[in-house]
Amino acid sequence: MSGEENGHQAGDAFAALANEHRMGIIETLWNRRSTEPNSQRTPIAFSELFEASELDDKGQFNYHLGKLVGPFLARSEDGYTLTYAGENIARAVQAGSVTDNPEVEDVSVEGRSCPFCGGDGIVMSYRDGIVFFSCTNCEGLAPESPMSPPGAIQAGTIPASALVERDPADLYDDAILWGNHVYMTLLHGFCPACAGAIDESLVLCDDHDASGGICESCGDRFASRVRYECRVCGTVEWGSLWGRLSYMEPVFGFLYNHGVNALRPSVDDLALGRDLREEVVSHDPPTVEYEFVVGTDHFRVHVDADLAVETVEEEMDSEREIDAED
Ligand SMILES: [Zn+2]
Ligand SMILES: [Zn+2]
Ligand SMILES: [Zn+2]
Repeated sequence: MSGEENGHQAGDAFAALANEHRMGIIETLWNRRSTEPNSQRTPIAFSELFEASELDDKGQFNYHLGKLVGPFLARSEDGYTLTYAGENIARAVQAGSVTDNPEVEDVSVEGRSCPFCGGDGIVMSYRDGIVFFSCTNCEGLAPESPMSPPGAIQAGTIPASALVERDPADLYDDAILWGNHVYMTLLHGFCPACAGAIDESLVLCDDHDASGGICESCGDRFASRVRYECRVCGTVEWGSLWGRLSYMEPVFGFLYNHGVNALRPSVDDLALGRDLREEVVSHDPPTVEYEFVVGTDHFRVHVDADLAVETVEEEMDSEREIDAED
């Protein structure tokens, strides 16, 4: 199928939704929760769907129903169920009351203290799909990025639904896990949006100068980043290289042995990011080295253009002390 044909078909499919009766059918099906294991939704018979609709004319109802069968509805002997695409539409509508109104007031986070200054003046804010937690007493994860509010401790892209009926303090602890979840999907080669195959590449800032904290050219502290692109839906995601490394051996092991579980990091662990050292070895092909530091222990890895990781050096103060005693 060519991209153009694909586009036409998608356009036709969405046109099929531009009708309140059809959206009503999708909603009726969505609200029928599964009562059987191994099925998301219990099928609904034609007669029941017609009953639930606001139409009196069976022929007219059947016409609208027919427009949905295929892309959004599956028909079986027992009736109708939503397809994956149909469920996504229903989900988007259901969450719409939140996502259409992303103006969320800043709230203070009770019972948590800043990992940098120990103060308890933490505030949660939400802008353009990103949740921020900031300290009102210190500069937080200095130096601040132009994107972040002053004193930002952590920031993460997350759907607005995450804020609904959830204590800000819980989100403070757990927002990072949503990011992990998305990142892990990418790392395993799946697109988090559609499960398509991912192409990944190491990208370096050509003009990197972070001596003032943030590089003006790339807006980041680190020159290296990983670009992920889905071969199917074209979604592009960017992630830090050091974040990726922290989930992978051998860095994961080093951190874990120092009390940091990258799969379930605490907010305090984010302070580690401040002690990282990056060295660009070569721009062409892109090659970098990263040094992770916990306390007085250092761990250095080499990353090549294929994102292959190799340990360069492991320096453990604790081991050196043992050696000295010998
Ligand atoms: Zn602080
Ligand atoms: Zn840069
Ligand atoms: Zn995709």
